[in-house]
Amino acid sequence: MSNPGIYRLNSKVVAQATEEWLTKRGVAKEQIGQLVMLLQKDYFPELTLDECVVNVEAVLSKREVQNAILTGIQLDMLAEEGKLLPPLQDMIKHDEGLYGCDEVLALSIVNVYGSIGFTNFGYVDKFKPGVLKKLNEKNGKDCHTFLDDIVGAIAAAASSRIAHRKQAEREAVQEALEQEGK
Ligand SMILES: [Mg+2]
Repeated sequence: MSNPGIYRLNSKVVAQATEEWLTKRGVAKEQIGQLVMLLQKDYFPELTLDECVVNVEAVLSKREVQNAILTGIQLDMLAEEGKLLPPLQDMIKHDEGLYGCDEVLALSIVNVYGSIGFTNFGYVDKFKPGVLKKLNEKNGKDCHTFLDDIVGAIAAAASSRIAHRKQAEREAVQEALEQEGK
């Protein structure tokens, strides 16, 4: 059993490790921002890449999200090193189609911002645009079975956050106009 007197979680350490590992595994926040742009530009033509990256950063600041990222990256790396138990080792290493736990872990990220993220997650999972294409290339060495879903989920969650915020902004403007008219 863990001793609460010894173990103390430092949230900053978790946040920092998440950033570092995403970078080490070849994913930049800007690349996730580009996925968000792709998902949202038809709905909000005035949306900028900077705005998308700000929303990606907001998603990355959540502990649930950081936990999923660190867990997924760790499993990918253990698979690369051949350190998982069979048959899990082969399933993760070869991104076995019927495995599915990679998508389930990623859904814990999508869940943070409500159900509209699901549609976006499904879309990027199917078409694998931008950085997801690179993560899905199989070179026999790198394993991104978990990371591709995680990155898609971060983009979907950031898209969802934007959609909710833009709606709130529109409503605030509408309300102000109505107040003026009174
Ligand atoms: Mg996957």
